[in-house]
Amino acid sequence: MFQKMYQMISQAKIIYIYRHISSDYDALGSQFGLAKLIKDNFKDVDVICMGEVNEELNQRMQIEVQKPSFEKKQDNLAIVLDTANQERIDGEGYNLCDYVIKVDHHIVVDSYGDINIEDPTASSTSELICRFYEANQDRLALTKQAATYLFYGIIGDTNRFMYESANAKTLHAASLLLLAGIDKQAIYESMYLSNLESLRIKGFILNNFVFDEGVGYYVMDQEDLATLGISRDLGSMFVNTLADIKEIEVWAAITYDSKQRLYRVSLRSRHVPIQPVASKYHGGGHIYASGAKLSSLDELPGLILSLKEAIKNEISI
Ligand code: AMP
Repeated sequence: MFQKMYQMISQAKIIYIYRHISSDYDALGSQFGLAKLIKDNFKDVDVICMGEVNEELNQRMQIEVQKPSFEKKQDNLAIVLDTANQERIDGEGYNLCDYVIKVDHHIVVDSYGDINIEDPTASSTSELICRFYEANQDRLALTKQAATYLFYGIIGDTNRFMYESANAKTLHAASLLLLAGIDKQAIYESMYLSNLESLRIKGFILNNFVFDEGVGYYVMDQEDLATLGISRDLGSMFVNTLADIKEIEVWAAITYDSKQRLYRVSLRSRHVPIQPVASKYHGGGHIYASGAKLSSLDELPGLILSLKEAIKNEISI
């Protein structure tokens, strides 16, 4: 598969690289890591990273802000990264391309590519891009910059190798990136150094979270986000404020999305499979980290009940 991917890349004149909406470190890390790897190794190809700008992460990852647009040209190729289903692809045009390659590590729900490289056991899509590099190591050079983006992706999705998904293959991928000369400390600092604003957000969460039979969650509605002066994306990124608390088996952030006029749910757990609950609520993702949607807060009690049932089922297994 990775040989075929190399071949497709080498034949293209323009490559559009997509990733999922509400981008995170892995979406951006795999996207910009692959883009840089291609630019560094294939001289006559244009590479365009599609999707909305993520101001916060662009700044942390030192990605230059660009406003990409799709324009169909000859010999094109779409590579869609880290996106389980077509609905979540950020940016237009992938379906107008001659050829689509999907590379993803989510639970498989929609194999929309002409080639589908799908491995739900991989820690991150960035890890899969490392495997693409390794499979073609004899003809690809990995620069420090490309490796840096990929490291952001692996670290973001494994929380510094802490999650179960970080396995021997993940550490092997990371070792390839270290050999490319990345500055691990600088990357960690840009990701984890916090500020006073974060303390205020955590203060809000600690003052307002609800605990209900193993489920811990907080809601940030339109007014809360305005009072805190933060975006929805940033509000949900604090979901792990409720992690590592013995009594909380499942934790969630429920934040108002004013563009889509609905509530977005970020779900996390240590051992309880929550992906099936997410898929009941227009979402999905990974077994222990998923996203979902509520059309209004009237649906919240049903969601919490489903999560409590998931905890009970896990305990009785
Ligand atoms: P989030 O809580 O938004 O960080 O998402 C956690 C994981 O679930 C990520 O890997 C997302 O790509 C995935 N995810 C989030 N929302 C959805 C959704 N509506 N459908 C499918 N997957 C999702």
